[in-house]
Amino acid sequence: MDSRYGDQLGVAVVDLTIPARIPNFVAGKETPPARETWFPKFDPATGRVVAEVARSQRDDVTAAVCAAQRAQPGWASTTVVRRGETLRALTLELQAHQMEMARIVAAETGKSLKDAMAECVGAIEMGFFVASEGRRYYGRTTTSAIEHRVAMTVRQPLGVAGLIIAANTPLANVAWKVFPALLCGNAVVLKPAEDTPLSAWAFARLAAAAAVPAGVLNVVHGYGDEAGAPLVECPDVAVVSFTGSCEVGRTIARVASGRLAKVCLELGGKNPLVVCDDADLERAVEAAALSGFSNAGQRCAAGSRVIVFDRVYEEFRERLVQRVGRLRVGTANGDDFGPVINEMQLNGMLAAIEAAKTRGIRVLTGGHRLSGPGYDGGYFLAPTILEGAGPDDAVSQTELFGPIIALYRVRTLDDAVQLANQSPFGLTAAVWTRSIHRAMVFMERVQAGVVSVNGPTYGSEPHLPFGGLKASGNGLREAGTEALDVYSDWKTIYLNHDPQAL
Ligand code: NAD
Repeated sequence: MDSRYGDQLGVAVVDLTIPARIPNFVAGKETPPARETWFPKFDPATGRVVAEVARSQRDDVTAAVCAAQRAQPGWASTTVVRRGETLRALTLELQAHQMEMARIVAAETGKSLKDAMAECVGAIEMGFFVASEGRRYYGRTTTSAIEHRVAMTVRQPLGVAGLIIAANTPLANVAWKVFPALLCGNAVVLKPAEDTPLSAWAFARLAAAAAVPAGVLNVVHGYGDEAGAPLVECPDVAVVSFTGSCEVGRTIARVASGRLAKVCLELGGKNPLVVCDDADLERAVEAAALSGFSNAGQRCAAGSRVIVFDRVYEEFRERLVQRVGRLRVGTANGDDFGPVINEMQLNGMLAAIEAAKTRGIRVLTGGHRLSGPGYDGGYFLAPTILEGAGPDDAVSQTELFGPIIALYRVRTLDDAVQLANQSPFGLTAAVWTRSIHRAMVFMERVQAGVVSVNGPTYGSEPHLPFGGLKASGNGLREAGTEALDVYSDWKTIYLNHDPQAL
């Protein structure tokens, strides 16, 4: 790393060279798994092994939770302003090591350095936002029916937070959970996705450099059933915050609720992008392509259902197919998107496309694995547009989490809203129209946690809440000050300042 950063910003020089083995991080130390078992992490762009990763089991999770339990009271007893300052120092470390962090994100996801840099910026913005909330940690001061009595509410930490995340935007996913969990005075045990262990490993190194006390942030790598499940089951974990699939989310909800732990679920989406007949078609095409294909469609907020008014359907379809034909798939900065995260996911999508074809659904473009120079060994899917799927077909109802969109044709806004809502999910939605009335009707009636007018289906800002309805979550929100509600509990205080008056 370039020591200039350290000199200029007063941040530490941290070695972020990817090691041959990625250990856990427990009680402030890099720790091998107790049983010395490791699993390979593959580069999605080449299929080659990047590193071996700690294959943790229940005893590793227990050790991390114990470390967190020991450290939490001390961390909680520092003021929230000081905790915010420590998180600010960690964010400055992230900023100073942005290029190395981007290389790490690129190495584990196969996305271009440019896209990985954008992800780092998102994580840094979240860090600065949450750190500043240390000085705005508001409760309420309010009236009382009783004289000489003041009533107020304050936030209090929960204890140990178990954080389990998906692979799609690994560093952003770490930032979205770790920063608010720590600000609220909890100690953390983080279980990163098995496909993306590197950014969490590097994040822990930066946290140590930023003087986050030992044991306050612990990272346990491994598979979901071996390392994730024991974290959810552990009676000493007060809150489980999960980002991932509905299937796993349901299991986690069941297990954690069984022991009355708090659970935050950020799950999947099958997000509609509606194009009305008064839309700016050129820009709507661009938004549809970005929503469906950026990050190889691996976004919970991806726009995978594009619902187009009859009157402009043919023109829109032609323009979209042409635009998608110009998309470049690869890992270079000039490319539009890279591989999907693992071979199993790629094969699942190919199978879904084949099954769709047998039901008469047409593949307008793509539908196959890319091969040849630059693609061999990697998990690349050609950008795919499907047409002719019914609302109840599997490709309409199931999240495929890849570069696949399905086109639908509707007559009216009523039909569009109905189709948009005909989904088990309710995460994000977008409408393209020049009519304020249509936009308002759509905003009011669409079942989604986030709505965008004349924009893509994704793209959230750190100070605003993000989350979904129906099977997309359980009602809590990440980001914004709303994230603090996940990681803290309210305490109501009645302060009688004249006991004689009682
Ligand atoms: P996944 O559910 O397979 O895995 C997510 C995490 O859960 C991983 O760390 C995995 O190891 C762990 N896990 C698996 N089984 C477990 C178990 N039994 N107990 C505890 N942990 C377990 O999800 P994925 O395929 O990696 O990610 C894609 C999904 O994530 C998509 O559905 C996507 O929409 C969703 N996602 C949602 C948001 C959001 O904010 N709503 C953001 C990003 C991704």
